[in-house]
Amino acid sequence: MAALSTEELAAAISSGNRRALARGITLVESSREDHRNQAIDLLELLAKHAGGALRVAISGTPGVGKSTFIESLGKYAIADGNKIAVLAIDPSSTLSGGSILGDKTRMEILAREQRAFIRPSPSGGTLGGVAARTREVILLCEAAGFNIVVVETVGVGQSETMAAQMTDMFLLLLAPGGGDELQGIKRGIIELADLILVNKADGGLEDIANKAVSEYRLALQLIRSRSDHWDVGVAACSALCDRGVAESWQQICDYRRIMKECGEIEIRRGAQAKSWLYAEINEVLGRRFRTNEKVRAEFQSVEAAVMSGNLPPTTAALRLLDLFQPDDINKKL
Ligand code: GDP
Repeated sequence: MAALSTEELAAAISSGNRRALARGITLVESSREDHRNQAIDLLELLAKHAGGALRVAISGTPGVGKSTFIESLGKYAIADGNKIAVLAIDPSSTLSGGSILGDKTRMEILAREQRAFIRPSPSGGTLGGVAARTREVILLCEAAGFNIVVVETVGVGQSETMAAQMTDMFLLLLAPGGGDELQGIKRGIIELADLILVNKADGGLEDIANKAVSEYRLALQLIRSRSDHWDVGVAACSALCDRGVAESWQQICDYRRIMKECGEIEIRRGAQAKSWLYAEINEVLGRRFRTNEKVRAEFQSVEAAVMSGNLPPTTAALRLLDLFQPDDINKKL
C-alpha cells in the first residue's frame, strides 16, 4: 500500500479494506510519537463509523479450548451473515515479550475466511497500555464493518477484568471437572460471566461436564446477577466435536437482542467510556511523567534511595512529582 494520508486511510478502512485495517491497527499499536498523533486523528475520523458491533469477551485458562471454540463459533456467525473480528489480550506477552496465545498458529480455518479478521495480541508495554490499544482496535474493526468483535483473553491475572471492561458480553470457558474445579476458579471471574460453557464434554467426559454444569448453576444462585434482564446461562459443549456451539451462538444472538432492547448495552458502554477516560488520563500522565527531563535526571538516584531504605516511597514520590510542573503536562504525548 502506498503512503496514504490519514483521511485516505480512514476512508479505506470504512470501506472495509482489510489491508487498510491492518495498517490502521499497526499505527494504533505503535509507540512512536508521530504514529500516536496520527492514530488519534484516525480514531477521531472513524468515530462515527464505530460502535456498531456486539463486543464479546471470551476467557479461559490456556488449553481449555478457546481457539477451537472461536473457530467453530465463527463459522455460525459467518453463516448468519455476520463479519467477525477476533482480537487477543495476552498478559504473558506484556510481561515476557513471549506469548501464550501467539506462539501457535491459531484458528487457521477462520483466518482464511473473507468475513473474518484475526489479530494477535499487541506485545510489550504495560497491560494497561495493551488494554487501551485493544479498545482502539475494537473501534477500527467496527469502522471496517465487523459486527461481532471477539476479545479473547487468557484466564490468568487481571486480563479478564480488562476484557470485561471493554466488551458487552463476557463468555467464560471452563474445563470439565468436579467441585475441586469450582474451588480453583476465582469467584470474581464467575461474577463477570454472562454465559458459562463447560467445554470438552466429549470422549467419555460428558457426565463429568454435566455435573460441573449443575455445580456452576448452584454457585451462580449465590452470586448477584450482573443484569436484571439476563439470566446467566451455563451449558456443556464440545468445541472439537461441534456440539453445543450452535446453541452458544444462539445465546449470544439472544443476548444481543435483549440487552439492546432494554438499553443495558448502552448503559454499560457509557460507564466503560468513563473509566476509559480516566485510564487514558492515568496512562498519558504516567508516560509524560516518566519521560519528563527533570524527572528523568533525578529518577535513578531517588529510586536507589527508596530501594536502600534511605527515603520513604511517599516522600520520594512527592519529590519527583514536584519536579513535574503543570507546564510540562501541556507538551505533546
Ligand atoms: P486455548 O489455549 O484455550 O485456545 O485451547 P485450544 O483451542 O488451543 O485447545 C487446546 C487443546 O484442547 C487442543 O489440543 C484442542 O484440540 C483441544 N480441545 C479444544 N476443544 C476441545 C473439545 O471440545 N474436546 C476435546 N476433547 N478437546 C478439545
